[in-house]
Amino acid sequence: MPTMPLHTEFDSIEALGAALRQGKVSAVELADSALDAVQARSDLNAFLHVDAELTRAQARTADALLSQGRGGSLTGIPIAHKDVFVTRGWRTTAASKMLADYTSPFDATVVSLLEQAGAVSLGKLNCDEFAMGSGNENSAFGPARNPWDADAVPGGSSGGSAAAVAAGLVMAATGTDTGGSVRQPAALCGVSGIKPTYGTVSRFGMVAFGSSLDQAGPLARHARDLLELLDPISAFDERDATSLPDCDGAANKPGRVRADFDAARSAQQGGKPLQGLRIGVPAEFFNEGLSPEVAQAVETALQTYESLGARRVEVSLPRTKLSIPAYYVIAPAEASSNLSRYDGVRYGHRSASYGDLADMTSRSRAEGFGPEVLRRILVGTYVLCHGYYDAYYLQAQRIRRLIAQDFQQAFADHCDVIMGPVTPTVAKRIGENRDDPTADWLADVYTLGVSLAGLPAMSIPCGFSGSAKPLPIGLQLIGNYFREGQLLAIADRFQQATDWHQRKPEQQ
Ligand code: GLN
Repeated sequence: MPTMPLHTEFDSIEALGAALRQGKVSAVELADSALDAVQARSDLNAFLHVDAELTRAQARTADALLSQGRGGSLTGIPIAHKDVFVTRGWRTTAASKMLADYTSPFDATVVSLLEQAGAVSLGKLNCDEFAMGSGNENSAFGPARNPWDADAVPGGSSGGSAAAVAAGLVMAATGTDTGGSVRQPAALCGVSGIKPTYGTVSRFGMVAFGSSLDQAGPLARHARDLLELLDPISAFDERDATSLPDCDGAANKPGRVRADFDAARSAQQGGKPLQGLRIGVPAEFFNEGLSPEVAQAVETALQTYESLGARRVEVSLPRTKLSIPAYYVIAPAEASSNLSRYDGVRYGHRSASYGDLADMTSRSRAEGFGPEVLRRILVGTYVLCHGYYDAYYLQAQRIRRLIAQDFQQAFADHCDVIMGPVTPTVAKRIGENRDDPTADWLADVYTLGVSLAGLPAMSIPCGFSGSAKPLPIGLQLIGNYFREGQLLAIADRFQQATDWHQRKPEQQ
């Protein structure tokens, strides 16, 4: 059985950071042991690209800073990036044949901010092609596997990120969430993940899928570690047209997000109990599609919150079901536009044989994109075309507005935070929905509305289903705009009182 990497002996990024600063462990030692573990767990197919020399170079820089007493909160901490964040060092494929040989001339903002904070990257993580999917099965490089059960999906699209954290290969990982891709794999792999408010983390250098929905977010073992990653990446970026200036504390004003992070940190110091917190529980999240085990685990988690002083109130999100058709019109529409750049000319795959220019483009695209991506492009082009634009695209945008209003109504009238399941079931078997591509779309019902509304939300482990090979269950926490600090504090309270997030999969 392969040995676990050194960093797994530490309970948190804070504890590991302290050991690094005290010289009890070095960044190079950590990097080497993590690289060994990544190799030993190649069965998980969590990593698409590893370059030991690049990783060691980052670790040496971290050690040099630490020896001068200049290490920051993430200096020397081993992490890895979903392969939709472009990186100068490692290839960036978005898990697509289209970009199989692509290396970016620049780093994504998220990548450079984490590097500036001192984190050491172990490489690039598997995901669904162009982040389209819910099981990591749409990767052109094969599915990543769930560390709890190798025959189960790790979730998607940030499946490699969740699998790598769950297997202990990294302390934390980056992911992206367009309709649930941080929260859902976090839930299915038993780790914690947060999708921040749309606009608070730069999209610059993230391979685009649905630009009005795409948002980066970290995955880690628990809420405290998530805060360590989310804080440095929540910053205004003029290279992202939808980046929100208000979230940058460096502009000499606290900013709404940053003020909330400060509150989360003081809550960690033992402050604010949950007394009086109103938890909104939407009736529509407990419908016929929800499996009894997930319903039971979420119910138990809500009871735990009540025992900690919170109060449960019923809320209604009446358009929950409509989030599926609205999302699966808007996201493909934006994808069809974003993916038009892959034309075989500028970059990406070019067919080996073709006639004229149009033939070259269509052959290159047909060969370069996988079936799910082609499906989205077809749907997206259809709903945007002249005769159908009003009936589908415009209508979906109207529904999107109503969904956002439903959340605002709930927050204004009834509750401080909303809780419910992340997914209707635990992780499915690899290959289970092969003949029914839209079955996966329906399983996104609890995560899509949040994305359409641009709200922050997270997933934390709250139970397991099954005994021989138990599969994790996630609890979803949804906050109002810019309240990610509040969410992290509320999640932390739960994790101080329970140990679901500490359970580890046995190596198989
Ligand atoms: N499962 C959703 C989809 O396939 C969400 C993906 C994501 O958030 N990137 O589009």
